[in-house]
Amino acid sequence: MLGRRHFRNPGGKGANQAVAAARLGGDVAMVGCVGADEPGDQLLDALAADGVDTGHVRQLDDTATGLAVITVDADGENAIVVSSGANAAVSADDVDRAAEVVDDAAICLMQLEIGDAPVEAAARRCGGTGVLNPAPARGLSDELLRHVDVLVPNQHELAALVGEPATDDVDGVVRLVERLGFDGVVIVTLGAAGAVVVRDGTGERVAAPRIDAVDTTAAGDAFCGAFVEALTRGAEVVEATRWACGAGAVAATRSGAQASLPTRDAVAQVLS
Ligand code: ADP
Repeated sequence: MLGRRHFRNPGGKGANQAVAAARLGGDVAMVGCVGADEPGDQLLDALAADGVDTGHVRQLDDTATGLAVITVDADGENAIVVSSGANAAVSADDVDRAAEVVDDAAICLMQLEIGDAPVEAAARRCGGTGVLNPAPARGLSDELLRHVDVLVPNQHELAALVGEPATDDVDGVVRLVERLGFDGVVIVTLGAAGAVVVRDGTGERVAAPRIDAVDTTAAGDAFCGAFVEALTRGAEVVEATRWACGAGAVAATRSGAQASLPTRDAVAQVLS
């Protein structure tokens, strides 16, 4: 198939979410791996440019930096192929070496573009609130779920986790969440339909601002970064979800991954 224009932009779920939180004013440290190659240098520079502490991002000599090839159609919907590269080398030891930032973090935000062992290590070590974006979706161990306080899947990830068709209806979302057997808070993102906060068997919808979507890449990452940034400022879960919906909406109006992540002013404006 012939495509149209193309560009390269720093990305990766963990890095995007770190930049999203930092660009909104959060105090963020990242734990992960990149290759000792040009994309790896660029990713580290991009994190540092937004004030993310990269002291615990290990650079590997013999492995390429992780890469995602993202195609975006005329409606702004995307399809993604990921080559894990250095992400697959992130280990529980990396998390242990980062104890100084993980143990005392108010929030530890995790994603699944790395293996289970480091995610479980981070969830176990984290002294504050553990937030897991289960993306890309894969089975979650009981051990991991026990140490996580908040899950943030999109509707397709939730559907994959419980093996049922996706739904954006509040009652339907609550039913799927019940099947997870997880007793924490679950925030399910629903694209243009916003998000549903599920707590104690009840769901509350938070509307997304109306925007013209250009490219939804990193909308979910903007959401996760903004959600935790709001929590660190003491926001209540629904209030943090509203802020996160604003951040996701802004990201969907712009092309690219980290390039599309908003500042506080942009989020405030789309929510006003
Ligand atoms: P993902 O990027 O993981 O697929 P979603 O598509 O659910 O996640 O988007 C995350 C959040 O971004 C949504 O909850 C919503 O707040 C916002 N968002 C995404 N697409 C749109 C859209 N077309 N209009 C308004 N908000 C959107």
